[in-house]
Amino acid sequence: SIMASEKEAALSAVPSDSPTIFDKIINKEIPASVVYEDDKVLAFRDINPQAPTHILIIPKVKDGLTGISKAEEKHCEILGRLLYTAKLVAKREGLETGFRLVINDGPDGCQSVYHLHIHLLGGRQMNWPPG
Ligand code: 5GP
Repeated sequence: SIMASEKEAALSAVPSDSPTIFDKIINKEIPASVVYEDDKVLAFRDINPQAPTHILIIPKVKDGLTGISKAEEKHCEILGRLLYTAKLVAKREGLETGFRLVINDGPDGCQSVYHLHIHLLGGRQMNWPPG
């Protein structure tokens, strides 16, 4: 993996509202494998995949949504759109036998990038409880 561990990356990440690497992906300043894009939402393959399909679904405008814990009522529409996009992408990826959506929040949740994102994981049997 590119990091010693995702957990280390998460625990060393400083929660802030500053631009993140995801803004560079949105602005095409760094490359990403984009699988879905519209005016509000972007979905691209995770650089360090934890399953055969591992896609991140993000809002193009962060609007204070460093993570789901910062959600306000004004965000309900984009939050719904992110979930609906996850379903569309799962279907497009052929994940007909199931998939998992994950939102990590804060240090305890192992969040490493402070721009809200939904992980779409699929293509293998998931385990429960999660780690
Ligand atoms: P978190 O740990 O915050 O829930 O998830 C952040 C995710 O972003 C991680 O799974 C990590 O692999 C992914 N990631 C970090 N930097 C990049 C990048 O530059 N490009 C892509 N495609 N994914 C990234």
